Order: sequence, then C-alpha cells, then structure tokens
Amino acid sequence: MRYVSTRGQAPELSFEEAMLTGLARDGGLYVPASVPRFSHGEIAAMAGQPYEEVAYRVMRPFVGEAFSDAQFRGLIDAAYGGFGHAARAPLVQLGPGHHLLELFHGPTLAFKDFAMQLIGQMFEAALTRSGSRVTIVGATSGDTGSAAIEAFRGLEAVDVFILYPHGRISEVQRRQMTTPAESNVHALAVDGDFDDCQALVKDMFNDFDFRDGVALAGVNSINWGRVLAQVVYFFTAAVSLGAPHRPVSFTVPTGNFGDIYAGSIARAMGLPVERLVVATNRNDILHRTLESGAYVKEGVHPTISPSMDIQVSSNFERALFDAYGRDGTAVAGQMDELKESGGFRISQGAYEGLKEIYASGRVSEEETSDAIKTTLAGTGELLCPHSAVGVAVAERHLDRSVPMVTLATAHPAKFPDAVEDATGVRPPLPSRMADLYERSERVTRVPGELAPIQSIIRERIAS
Ligand SMILES: *Cc1c(COP(=O)(O)O)cnc(C)c1O
Repeated sequence: MRYVSTRGQAPELSFEEAMLTGLARDGGLYVPASVPRFSHGEIAAMAGQPYEEVAYRVMRPFVGEAFSDAQFRGLIDAAYGGFGHAARAPLVQLGPGHHLLELFHGPTLAFKDFAMQLIGQMFEAALTRSGSRVTIVGATSGDTGSAAIEAFRGLEAVDVFILYPHGRISEVQRRQMTTPAESNVHALAVDGDFDDCQALVKDMFNDFDFRDGVALAGVNSINWGRVLAQVVYFFTAAVSLGAPHRPVSFTVPTGNFGDIYAGSIARAMGLPVERLVVATNRNDILHRTLESGAYVKEGVHPTISPSMDIQVSSNFERALFDAYGRDGTAVAGQMDELKESGGFRISQGAYEGLKEIYASGRVSEEETSDAIKTTLAGTGELLCPHSAVGVAVAERHLDRSVPMVTLATAHPAKFPDAVEDATGVRPPLPSRMADLYERSERVTRVPGELAPIQSIIRERIAS
C-alpha cells in the first residue's frame, strides 16, 4: 500500500514512512493511494470477534510490508492490553435507536488512547529495527498530549515534546502530561491557544533544517496511523448493531476532524454508514462549513469542552481531497487561499459530495450542560462535556429506522468541574490513577514563538 499527499506534490511513501513522517513535505497530509473494500461476507464475519481480531482485519491491508502478520498481531495485543474494559470499546444503549460508544477506557481516559497506544507500539518496533531515534513534537488541546506521553514515556528511541495552551486545559489533562517522571517526556506550556500550538508544530515541520536535524516525527491527528487505528471501532460498533445487514449512523464530537474522518474511511471500506454527523460546540467552523459551503476562520472561544476548541480543523483537508475527486492541485489551491485570506469557498461539486456523507449540528454551553444532566437522569450514564455535545446533536438526527451511535470521547472524570456544575455529581477518577493529584509536576513555560521552542528542543535532545 502506497500513500499520497493531499496536495499532490510530495513523494509517495510506504505505511511506515508515512507514519514516521506525519506531515507531507508539500504541507499536505498522507492518505492511502486507494482504500481497500471488504465484501459483505467479510464484514458479517467480524460479528462476535474480539476487538483485537477486528482491529487486525481492518488495519492489516493498510500496513503492507511494515510488519509481519504475527508481529502486527502482537503490537495490537500490546496496545489494547492495558485498557480497563474487556470489550475495549463497549456500546451502551441510551434510548430507542440511540447508542453510546464508550471510547474512554484507555490509560488516559480519552479515545486518543486507541490510536496513540498502537502508534507507540509501531514506532518502537520500527525504530528498534532501524536503530534510529526520533523527536516527537505534538500540539494538544489536552487529550492528544496526555495519550502521547503515556504511549511514549520511557521509550529509548524517542523524545516526546508536547505543546499545550497554558491555562486552557483541565487539571487532570495537565497532570497527566506533567507528572510522568521519565526524562524523555517534555511538557511545554505555551502562551497562546491550541491553534497557536498547532501552527508552531506545523512551522517546525516546514523548517526542513530543523526537521531533519532533530529527526522530527509527528503524532498529531494528521498522522495517518492515528486515523487508521480509529477506523476499527466504527466496524465493531456497526457490526454489533447488525451491519452489514443494516445501516448505522454515527455522531462524532469533532475538533480536528480525525475521528469522524476515520468513520468515512470505514464507509469507503464497505461498512454501511448512512450518515456521519459532525457535532461541534460554539467553535463551529465545521458546522458552518457544512451549512454554507464556505470554510471561514473565526476566533477560538474557550468552552467546557476544551478538546474541541479549534478553528483550523487539520483533517478536514483529507475530506476535501476525497470530495475533490482526489485532486491535490485543487486542495493545495484552497489551502493557499486559507493561508492568505482566512477562508475559502468549496466548489459546488465537492460541497455536494461532502453533504452526501456528512450532516452537522452545533450546541451551546447551556445545551451541553443540559445534555449531561438529562442523560444522567434518563439513563444513569455520566457524560463528559464532549460526549454531551455529541449526544445533544445526535438527538436532533435520530431516525428510528437507522440506529445512531454517538461516540463518547472522554471519561467524565477528565472534566470533573463541568460535570459537577451540570449534575452536582463529581465523577471520581478510576482507582488506577487515583493518586494523580498527589504526584509532582514538571513543565516548561514557553512563549508562543518558534525560535525559543526550537532552541529548547535542540538543547534537551543533545543532553
Ligand atoms: C480530541 C478530542 C475530540 C475531537 O476529536 P477530533 O479527532 O480532533 O475531531 C473530541 N473529544 C475529546 C474528548 C477529544 O479528546
């Protein structure tokens, strides 16, 4: 399997190269040159299989020569062995035709663990084989960073630097990043918002001297390996609700468009996904885009669902690439326009293509709190504020003939203040991390500027 850039100018890569590289050198994102399709029978045969077995079947065709069959199975088993639930991604019913896919049973209590735990295993295997080292630099709105640090802490061949917006993440998120004692872990608190952090990381990738000098590798949701790992639970959920004999829809609390894009890959692979519903908080660029056909940046507003406080949604570029019939030149043109004028209008044909797959909705802060409260009262399920955004939007899109699955993207205990404000109930941390508030923290505060951050990274990896 070969990988091509969404902007059409970077060299084609293998799976391993695309995974270790992250961002393509033309500024684009890597996508598979073609998406393999399962038969009806192959999807039906996934019913009742363990998560790890479905993961193997879904991901194997994308990985190519990077790992042998047996080695890849071993990496998958190691990735998910530490999850706190035997089903890995259990499905619970919220009401008639509405189900919640709990993706928060991993070591850092957010869905990011599904991808990051596997990426950690794959990086280690690939780097051990080649005897090389990499410097991982990532930006986080809270959950990616903690999941990355958890996945890479203590590994010999990797230093991991995580940029997070100072003061804009929850205390649990911060502590998960600042308390690991391993010397290869570096938490950087940036004066700025998440989009600033993400832009700094992009600038580091586009500075080829720096990029090659420190052997930069990216594990942000632009990394194809991340998207791939997230395709799996769309299959396990849909099959347990009757696919491929019956279609299923999904509502996905969305920020960087990674998780929901994985759903579109599952659909392209033959899974009968009727509709993918984008759920946003007040930072609604994706909802506005799907309503109007124009992608226009606005300022970021802090909300109680901070992992979705994003205005530049990186993976949307992959959806655009598909909608433009995989025309990299067209995508590159739109991205230039975004950089120059802060927005672009999608062509009519591409817009219609997007509307065939995606629907969308936005909820206010009050509606989010309300969804946490009414879901607890109606079902006993405690939602994190991101999952609550999903549930509130999904309720507007319920269709009794097609089951709806809402993705629960984080554990309520990761956002205890918002949950307590909504319900009066303070969700406790699972016992395996109950001492998080007692561990000592280690973090470096940095200005939102490229040069000083690059110096810190160079110094730390040299020492
Ligand atoms: C990252 C994250 C999201 C958004 O996911 P994307 O793949 O960026 O769209 C939603 N909820 C939580 C809890 C997250 O950590």
